[in-house]
Amino acid sequence: MATTGESVVHGSKARPQDLPSIDKLLRLPATQALIVTHGHTLVADHARHLLEQLRTQIKVDALPVQEIQPESLTLKLQTAIDARLTPRMQRVINLTGTVIHTNLGRSVLPETAIRHLTTMMEGPNNLEYDLTSGGRGDRDSIVEGLLCEITGAEAATVVNNNAAAVLLSIAALAGGKEVIVSRGELVEIGGAFRMPDVMASAGASMVEVGTTNRTHLADYQRAITSRTAMLMKVHTSNYAVQGFTSSVTEAQLAPLAREHGVALVTDLGSGSLVDMAQYGLPHEPTPQEMLSAGCGVVTFSGDKLLGGPQAGLIVGERDLITRIRKFPMKRALRLSKLPLAALEATLMLYLQPELLTRDLPTLRWLTRSQEQVAQMAATLLQPLQTALAGRYTVSLQETSSQIGSGSLPVDRLPSSGLAIAPILSGKRGTGSALDGLAEALRRLPVPIIGRVSDDRLLLDCRCLDRAEDVLIQLDALHTQLA
Ligand SMILES: *Cc1c(COP(=O)(O)O)cnc(C)c1O
Repeated sequence: MATTGESVVHGSKARPQDLPSIDKLLRLPATQALIVTHGHTLVADHARHLLEQLRTQIKVDALPVQEIQPESLTLKLQTAIDARLTPRMQRVINLTGTVIHTNLGRSVLPETAIRHLTTMMEGPNNLEYDLTSGGRGDRDSIVEGLLCEITGAEAATVVNNNAAAVLLSIAALAGGKEVIVSRGELVEIGGAFRMPDVMASAGASMVEVGTTNRTHLADYQRAITSRTAMLMKVHTSNYAVQGFTSSVTEAQLAPLAREHGVALVTDLGSGSLVDMAQYGLPHEPTPQEMLSAGCGVVTFSGDKLLGGPQAGLIVGERDLITRIRKFPMKRALRLSKLPLAALEATLMLYLQPELLTRDLPTLRWLTRSQEQVAQMAATLLQPLQTALAGRYTVSLQETSSQIGSGSLPVDRLPSSGLAIAPILSGKRGTGSALDGLAEALRRLPVPIIGRVSDDRLLLDCRCLDRAEDVLIQLDALHTQLA
């Protein structure tokens, strides 16, 4: 065994002079192997850092000499490099019960979209190239036909997200002019998207009409002037005004907009492309309905109920969409080729609607019956009880899932999951025992995210497709908690 210092005695404390030089560390065969894999720069940086760290440790804590043996040093080096090269973005298992969870990346792409995306990214593609003419193409054309076919729109364009779709539509159609909007629809969506601020950013003046709970057609009528360019409707997706309420529908506003030559624009937010009621879910207005009601432009998200990648979809009348597409801001908000590929494949599923509840994860999970979810929970029950034995009790529990992402806020889906409660030894409180478990679950190779409710950690199984994803991690969980 090669030694790194002159006097290595088992059990003795390392001295600063026992540390190898950086050159010596880099010449060790195990380090050379790391250099072959990762290149000189990263390995040398970490080697230098490791030696500095050990030098400090020797001074401060007195380090056993074995800790600076070649095997130990190269192992530390490898561990540090592995940690550095672990991506910050990690796959997780969503057992929160919220299907479209913004913090967990919203919709999960269908298999076909993942495959198409991967294939398209493996080389160049015809993003803006017309394969028929050999000339320049338009990236919008990749999905415009599909969007028109599915929604019945004359034209369509796509941008980075729905916030961008709203901003761009207002800027292009009403910049420097007035937009009339109901006080009941001045929404704030998570992440600082507030309708009044968006209007200001788009360079439009907002004219509020009506009250928080009631707005009438006459309110819009009275507010229209020569400066008005747009009537704006915003789908109040993340809250519900209940009780003595009244709002004006798109169908009621359309004739008014037409009469005055102003655009009627609806921000649908979630915008499902199929009628959710056919699955026994609460009805969510569709772009199709909004267009038939007479809206000139409808905007909605790609990664909410649609179940695709982050994108902002803008559909509507040809002349309005053309103005939006030609507006300079569009260039800054355009959709990249990655989500565009995923979006095209996702939209293809809508041409085969019978496949949606099977192949589109968002709809598969939303339409899963409570019995099906309970079966999945039952599969996990006993293995989880074994892994947590003596520390926590685990039982089956009926839960209620949420659709999430601001869609259908008041509606809950009857669901099922596992309720985990600490067996208290007296010292630790319920809260800290639950936090400890939640943290252990988050530290798993594929972190499992649950939710705490009523002194229990709930693992809602609605969004779990394969029990194995959890089962193969239970040994690691047991070790974490030990
Ligand atoms: C979600 C939502 C938005 C923002 O959409 P993103 O795709 O997240 O940018 C805007 N308006 C409404 C009504 C929404 O529900």
